Amino acid sequence: MITRMSHLFLRTLRDDPADAEVPSHKLLVRAGYVRRVAPGVYSWLPLGLKVLRRVEDVVRKEMNAIGGQELMFPALLPREPYQTTGRWAEYGDALFRLKDRKNGDYLLGPTHEEMFASIVKSEFSSYKDFPVTLYQIQTKYRDEERPRAGILRGREFVMKDSYSFDMDDSGLEQSYQAHRRAYQQIFNTLGIEYAICYATSGAMGGSASEEFLAVAEHGEDTFVRSTSSDYAANVEAVVTVVPEKQPIDGQPEAKEYETPDSETITALVDWANSEGVQIDGRAVEAADTLKCIVVKVTKPGVDKDGMAYAPELTGVLVPGNREVDMKRLEASLEPAAVELASEEDFKNNPFLVKGYVGPRGLAANGVRVLADPRVVEGTAWITGADAKNRHVVGLVAGRDFTPDGYIEAAEVLEGDPSPDGEGTLTLARGIEIGHIFQLGRKYTEAFDLQILDESGKRAVPTMGSYGVGVSRLVAVIAEQMHDEKGLRWPLSVAPFGAHVVIANKDAAAGEAAEKLAAALSEDHVEVLLDDRPKVSPGVKFKDAELLGMPLVIVVGRGFADGKVELRNRLTGEIEEIDYESAVATIKAALN
Ligand code: ATP
Ligand code: MG
Repeated sequence: MITRMSHLFLRTLRDDPADAEVPSHKLLVRAGYVRRVAPGVYSWLPLGLKVLRRVEDVVRKEMNAIGGQELMFPALLPREPYQTTGRWAEYGDALFRLKDRKNGDYLLGPTHEEMFASIVKSEFSSYKDFPVTLYQIQTKYRDEERPRAGILRGREFVMKDSYSFDMDDSGLEQSYQAHRRAYQQIFNTLGIEYAICYATSGAMGGSASEEFLAVAEHGEDTFVRSTSSDYAANVEAVVTVVPEKQPIDGQPEAKEYETPDSETITALVDWANSEGVQIDGRAVEAADTLKCIVVKVTKPGVDKDGMAYAPELTGVLVPGNREVDMKRLEASLEPAAVELASEEDFKNNPFLVKGYVGPRGLAANGVRVLADPRVVEGTAWITGADAKNRHVVGLVAGRDFTPDGYIEAAEVLEGDPSPDGEGTLTLARGIEIGHIFQLGRKYTEAFDLQILDESGKRAVPTMGSYGVGVSRLVAVIAEQMHDEKGLRWPLSVAPFGAHVVIANKDAAAGEAAEKLAAALSEDHVEVLLDDRPKVSPGVKFKDAELLGMPLVIVVGRGFADGKVELRNRLTGEIEEIDYESAVATIKAALN
């Protein structure tokens, strides 16, 4: 097939759209691949749709290869199944809810665990039918709080979601690993640079959940990687390496000091060093101080009297060289909600002296104290003495105060030891492109999916849930593969392998370009032919760079000498090739 630019439904734009911040968004709009309809809602124009379909094909091929069977649910769904699992309410504002003419409640599916669990229940009843993996490539709807960066975070987007059903845990593990390998295959085929990140801490559930993050400067997610192993994790999943306990015997008594105007860690460290305080014979650093952050934690749901739980004051202790990372704190306390204590809370609790809060004062007033894992027994700290302008030096954990528990709440810093014991951590930014998750029996139990096992007893299958952001991948590839001139599609998803440009008014050159395009097409190369009659070569070249096909073939001045130019958009190479053998040369370059 030859697609002619003279007929293609395409307008490229000179300028970046005003609402675009990230390169993929700017380029996909400028190159005429997508157009915005509403916030987070986009139309796919012919070139964009071609890339989307090709990404779908790559995903579909690998899902089929692991035995996945494709089906498709509606996006418009009744309330009941989502009521059964509680997600009708839990999903909150992110769920698009609507009414039909009979006042029935409907929703636009944000994800489909409910539908898959209930269809397996209605169709299957014997262990002989298992394991089974089902998937769909379908449009999802989420009323995202911050739709962003074009199709990167849409409110309508295409996802591949698959679900495995196994009779036992070892079966689930196998289905999970099969998906993990399929995802690696997919992202490798697409030429994406990515990391597989632990999404839940190793301590909590091993590999029960991992996210595939594409490395991207403009990504919303921060993740860590080890300098010397393939360990990678979401910041929320990083488990602190716990230092060794210190002997308490022989440590000097804690001593209180007058420390005027020392509400901040910097001021406190300055005071300590001006006072000549020493730690193991060296000057005091921020890491020697202990920050006490006061938060309020609210349990979800209601108590036995049907009342919502009241927020509970909680002290969080972290070494003074680190901030509390609210995302890590929230993840550690989930499903409880957490917020910083307000001015009002400080006013209502006079024992909380702002800038001078310490673990002893909190404990003495019945406030639960959760400490960073580095606050091990025998470590000595400089911290608040619970009175204005007073701090205490040499407060020893396990002697002068004892935390009620430990918590992952401190920010992860570049250079921290890697939890797997190999190397140190570096921080990177990424975009989530896939998620694999051992769900377990939450949904199968909710729908009372009972299957007769080998011995004739009823058993509930266990489920895995696996997503790939298909439409997001189009933006992710654009994000990783572009330069200042435009897009650069890898061969696996490019709308066309070859872009033939007629760059000469000479009729013979025009004819030769037509012939070349026809021969390539005959040889199963998808060809875009820039045959626009009244467009200058300069404009055609600029468009070719913006549109980003892997190979651009220019039939122009050199044609008189039997030469055409082959421009490789992926490698940047430009070479003169013989017109006569052009098809073979181009085919070779495409392989
Ligand atoms: P995120 O943290 O980016 O919101 P998520 O955890 O909500 O993602 P899942 O529910 O696991 O995502 O969905 C599976 C995949 O669908 C994600 O890995 C991502 O690639 C894609 N995805 C999720 N939300 C969107 C969106 N709003 N627009 C485009 N793709 C999305
Ligand atoms: Mg989300």
